[in-house]
Amino acid sequence: MTKYIFVTGGVVSGIGKGISGASLGRLLKDRGLSVFMQKMDPYINVDPGTISPYQHGEVFVTKDGGETDLDLGHYERFIDEELTINSSITSGKVYNAVIQRERRGEYEGATVQVIPHITDEIKQKVYSVARQSGADVIITEIGGTVGDIESLPFIEAIRQIHAENSREDVLFVHTTLIPKIPSSGELKTKPTQHSYKELMSLGIKPNIFIIRCEDVITDDIKEKISLFCDVPVEAIVQSYNVDFIYEVPLSLKAQGLDDYVLHKLNLDLPDSDLSEWKSVVKRYKETTQTLSIGLVGKYVALHDAYLSVSQALEDAGYALGHRVEIQWIDSEEINEKNASNILAGLDGIIIPSGFGRRGIDGMILASRFAREHRVPYFGIGLGMQTAMIDLARHEFGMEGADSTEFNPDTPYPIIDRMVGQDEDTRLGGTLRLGNYTCELKPGTMAYEAYGKDKIDERHRHRFEFNNAFKERFEEEGVVVSGMHSPLDLVEIIEWPAHPFFVGCQFHPEFRSRPNKIHPLFEAFIRASINYKE
Ligand code: GLN
Repeated sequence: MTKYIFVTGGVVSGIGKGISGASLGRLLKDRGLSVFMQKMDPYINVDPGTISPYQHGEVFVTKDGGETDLDLGHYERFIDEELTINSSITSGKVYNAVIQRERRGEYEGATVQVIPHITDEIKQKVYSVARQSGADVIITEIGGTVGDIESLPFIEAIRQIHAENSREDVLFVHTTLIPKIPSSGELKTKPTQHSYKELMSLGIKPNIFIIRCEDVITDDIKEKISLFCDVPVEAIVQSYNVDFIYEVPLSLKAQGLDDYVLHKLNLDLPDSDLSEWKSVVKRYKETTQTLSIGLVGKYVALHDAYLSVSQALEDAGYALGHRVEIQWIDSEEINEKNASNILAGLDGIIIPSGFGRRGIDGMILASRFAREHRVPYFGIGLGMQTAMIDLARHEFGMEGADSTEFNPDTPYPIIDRMVGQDEDTRLGGTLRLGNYTCELKPGTMAYEAYGKDKIDERHRHRFEFNNAFKERFEEEGVVVSGMHSPLDLVEIIEWPAHPFFVGCQFHPEFRSRPNKIHPLFEAFIRASINYKE
């Protein structure tokens, strides 16, 4: 029997609901349950793929090509499961499906309404994830704050799921903020009481409260919440402010959250010791050495735009005994004159993904600097492409070499839309999304790093290395170490005349886990440590 846990937020957004849900997922997985996660976002965009990185942060890509909210990245890193496109539901996606069905005449003359048609569609997304994943527990986070107009259909749908299932199969977890009054230092439970009332008026009685508060909440605060919100004191835990997000599961476990959840779900399971997770946190606590990695991009003003990349860098650093200090470098600020000043002193340079012309020149200067100064360089997506443009222009004498994304009239279109295919089979205007297989060439750095010859990795891009230039590049000494052979696409490129100069077309950051560091991030950080020493 599938169990459903719904995580709602009260008082304000941005209090780490995603981390709380993901931490609960980790705790339950450690108790031996299979866990799958899902997020409902009340906005009208069909997916976050079109939202500016400045507004929404990174777009996380699932294995089946879903463009989703960055919270899914937290979920994957915490529960170590690959999620799917159905793990991300937006109002836009729900309405889109219902309207298309209406246009096909499938409602047979009915007036299409929020209840039951929109709510049925939402419920169906929850139940289908349960069926497809076969997981014991589905944890679904509802974005936004209870009381928002936009989230009402989602709240109503989860109320109905509660009504349709046995009591012991559906749990409601409410994450809320206890503010502190600056002048008196008093902690106030009133907003939480209001949020509880709001949920109750929508037919939902929360079973568990996860509290965020800048101070440690005392027993009398818990007793007050217990009294006003009708839950036992054991049902109230605090998600403390921690230095390192991976500490959250440990702190929630220390307060007995998993025991209480299992008790409510009527499950009797042996205890776990979270040993693997503890060792990740221990490494973090013990790390004293630092490593300075320059992240050159154009959305650096908002660090969330590169969340998975920065997390993968930090996790790889800890695994190798170094605290990675990311230097956020705006590629638009780099020019010929200041490049060496801005980039001096870094132990490694990474250029992650990006779209559009803006900031490209600075990226090409950064990869050139890394290449000429033998600083370890790791290019991801756009970062691979700019490195190849640098090599072509400055090493191979191909003046004006470019990507047709930035210059359609370039004499050397070394990065282009998929070529060598007929018009029909071109990936055209759409993105190459999701997992693709990649075969590695023995004897290369990539092959060494992965330790196998066949991998799969996640993609999100339109442009590819142009095979018309592959031979020329190889003659010049470039090593193509990874290919997706069914479509003859170049996936990983290395420049062996350098200690570590590697680019990949895909996004390894989406596959890195705190307890299973991605091989390319590990190799890059190792090279950066060697460079520093
Ligand atoms: N803009 C480039 C492309 O579409 C790179 C995208 C990316 O970095 N994933 O191919």
